This record gives sequence, structure tokens and C-alpha cells, in this order.
Amino acid sequence: MIFLDNAGTTKMFEECLQVYGGYACKDFFNPSAMSMESMNVSKALLETEKFFLNVLGASDGNVIFTGSATESNNLAIKGSFRKGDYEYVFSAGEHPSVYNVAKKMELDGCKVHFVPLNSAGQVDLVELEKVLNEKTRLISVMFVSNETGAVNDLDKIIKLKTRLCPRAVLHVDGVQGFMKIPFSLRKTPVDLFSFSAHKIHGPKGVAGLYVKNKGALKELFQGGGQQYGVRSGTENVPGIMQFKRAVELTDVRKNLEHVEELKKSLVEILTAGGVECVDFAGSPYILNVAFNGVKGETMLHALDEKGVVVGLGSACSAKKAGNRVLENIGFDKDKIVSSVRISFSAYQSVKEIEEAGKIIVETYKDIKEKVS
Ligand code: PLP
Repeated sequence: MIFLDNAGTTKMFEECLQVYGGYACKDFFNPSAMSMESMNVSKALLETEKFFLNVLGASDGNVIFTGSATESNNLAIKGSFRKGDYEYVFSAGEHPSVYNVAKKMELDGCKVHFVPLNSAGQVDLVELEKVLNEKTRLISVMFVSNETGAVNDLDKIIKLKTRLCPRAVLHVDGVQGFMKIPFSLRKTPVDLFSFSAHKIHGPKGVAGLYVKNKGALKELFQGGGQQYGVRSGTENVPGIMQFKRAVELTDVRKNLEHVEELKKSLVEILTAGGVECVDFAGSPYILNVAFNGVKGETMLHALDEKGVVVGLGSACSAKKAGNRVLENIGFDKDKIVSSVRISFSAYQSVKEIEEAGKIIVETYKDIKEKVS
């Protein structure tokens, strides 16, 4: 099978399995208990938090470990909410774990702005500038779009925030960029940054939220006060340690170069075969293609039968009709229906991708002949 839905999830590194065993069966102690064994686990967790802060390029702040980036996003947004005459700003292209929180806030009576995307799939900065003001409490924008791979210009967004609403909190959903696109909080200082393990060959059910000022973040649920009182609940120590191992095994720049090559070779094969490749000039990990005249869903199932797995966009919303993000960018209905998301792993070979390309082109030609 050639798996081309790596923005949906990735296969975990086998090396992470051993790490799990070590902390699930041997050093299984509760990090909040008082025994020496527990204190050692607590120390290891603290070191792991420092490890992540270092990877993110943070000179201060904390990392809160969560059960998913969905939880990280909810914690960032709901934890920054305050009663009062405030405004909340989101991009129209956010993942459902941000977008649906924003929609619910709007339903609950908050003043919420959804900033449209430009034709390159990025947050439209002219439109963003129009809605920012001294009442802005939170801006939440993603780093890399899970639908298109478009990369937002976070540095320009920070400049706008500094000029127009310096007291606002800036949250970035970094899931599709973390350990894939070079990023450092030193250069791009945001207040909150979400990231997830299972998108980078780590385990499912483990994620993180970088928090610059933990005192300003309200907890989502009450409990034993773990993780500075921001996220109660016994930490998933084995999972967090596996996440760390996955990060250690990742070479961002080397992977990026390789994935650029993978994308280039697939685009060449598909374009020559009559498949429209939409280049958002963003992350090389994601490629949007349109099978004009054939439904994306039909292609997905036909390819699945031939051992090539592709995606239809966000796994969490893939079962819903339409595509809110592509619609916002200005795709017409036919193009949206014929669109498929292809996403790469840095551990795939050019040969494997060329093989997938051939299968995709053959399948498209076969189906197109039948339907025309
Ligand atoms: N944000 C983005 C941009 C994503 O792509 C995803 C997963 O598809 C999430 C958030 C949610 O991540 P998780 O599966 O860890 O909840």
C-alpha cells in the first residue's frame, strides 16, 4: 500500500514502541505521587517539557501536554476567553477544532470575525487588518493549512497585532507545520502554539500546547491541578515520551528537501497525465489535485482498491459534503467535488511516489473514459 494521506495521520516510528514499554511497564509511577520512583518520573517529564521548549525555540513559557491537538486548540481558545466587550478573530480556513469552537462562541453571543482567505489559501492580511482593534482579545490562525498546505505569514500577522492590538493573545494551530516547516518562537513569538504527535510519526492521543503565560490561561476542567493547574489529569507519560522520541528522530531540513523532491516528481507525472495540480506554493507535504470530470470521492475509492490511499481533506470533516476551505479560496463547485488531498511522508521514496503517480493517472484515465 502507498499511503498518501499523511496529513490525516502517520505511521508511528517502531522505535517509539520500546519507549512506551519502558514507561508503561517499568517506570509506570504516577508523576504526582510522593515516592522516589514517582519523583523520578516527574523529573523526566519536566526535562521533556524543557526538550519541547527548546525544539520550539522558546526562551520562556511552558508546554502543556494534552490528549490531542483538538484539545490543545480548545484549551487555547476557551482558556483565553474573557467576559466583556471583546472581539475574537479567526481565519476562515481553520481546522474544525478551531472553526467549530469559534462558531459556538458566535452562537453564544460573542463578537467573532472570520477573516477570508486569499487565492493562495492564506489569511487575507488586508482583511485581517480591517478587523483588528483594541477590543481584540484573541487572534487564532493556523501555521499551515491541513487542506491546501498554504503557509500563513505569521511574521506579518505578529506585526499587525503589535500595531493594532498589542494586548491580544495570538494562538497558532501549528499541527501541519510542527517538525515539517522550520519554525522558531525566537523569530516568530506567538502566545500559544498547538502541535500533535500523530502527524509526525508519533503516537495518537498525545499533543501539546505551548503557553507563553500560563497565568493568563483558564483551565478547561477541574481536577488534581496537574500541569500547573492548566490541565488536570494524570499525564500520559508513556505517550509523551514516545512523542519526544518521534521528535528526536526527525530532521526537519533534510525531510523538507526530500519531500520537495517527492512533490515535484508527483506533480510532473500527474500534470503529464492530465490531472490538475493546484500549487498553493506552501508546504511541500500537501498537494491538492483536481480530477476534472470525475468526483474526488470516486477516485479515492478506486485508488484505495489499487492500494493507493489519498484523502479528501480534514479527516474530521471528510464525511461532510462540500469543502468550506476550498470554497472560501474561490474554487467553483465542480472543482471542489473533483478535489483530492495528497499528503506525503518524508520516509517515502521517489520510486514509491512515481509508482503511485502512474496508478493515479491510469485510474483517472479509466474512470474518465467510462463517465464521458
Ligand atoms: N489542526 C490541524 C491543522 C490538523 O490538521 C489537525 C488534524 O487533522 C488537528 C488540528 C487536530 O489534531 P488531533 O488529531 O491531534 O486532534
